[in-house]
Amino acid sequence: MAYIKRKPKKQPLFDNKVIVKKKPNLKAKLDRIFSEYIRLRDANPQGYTVCISCGKIVPWKESDCGHFINRSHMATRFNEKNCNSQCRSCNRFDEGNNIGYMRGLIKKYGQAVIEELEILKHQHSHLSDFDYKVLIDLYTQKVKQLHEDKGI
Ligand SMILES: [Zn+2]
Repeated sequence: MAYIKRKPKKQPLFDNKVIVKKKPNLKAKLDRIFSEYIRLRDANPQGYTVCISCGKIVPWKESDCGHFINRSHMATRFNEKNCNSQCRSCNRFDEGNNIGYMRGLIKKYGQAVIEELEILKHQHSHLSDFDYKVLIDLYTQKVKQLHEDKGI
């Protein structure tokens, strides 16, 4: 009896039947809407914000959402007290002007806020895709409301 040696069937390197959908970058999307929320929250009805660090007055669209504890700490990245309107020169060119930021924070929320945020910063935080979507929806609503309330 003769055996026919069969060639092993070649396996495709990639399964073409599975279309890999590129995940939308939920973190970037939340960063954007959260930043808009913070700047609108801090804007007066004329649409101006006061820089938390240096007191400069700028139109809300030209202000930044500045983080007191930097964005690498996920536990405080989307914390409303940790984020405040800041002028671009403090946020981008003065390393956040942290001394001024601290003074501004204490004036706005009281001395305890510094310790509160420092403790929070070390906590582990992981947001699932679901969490991101919930937060994106929440802040989209809040932004819409602020636009209506302030007429800006
Ligand atoms: Zn400033």
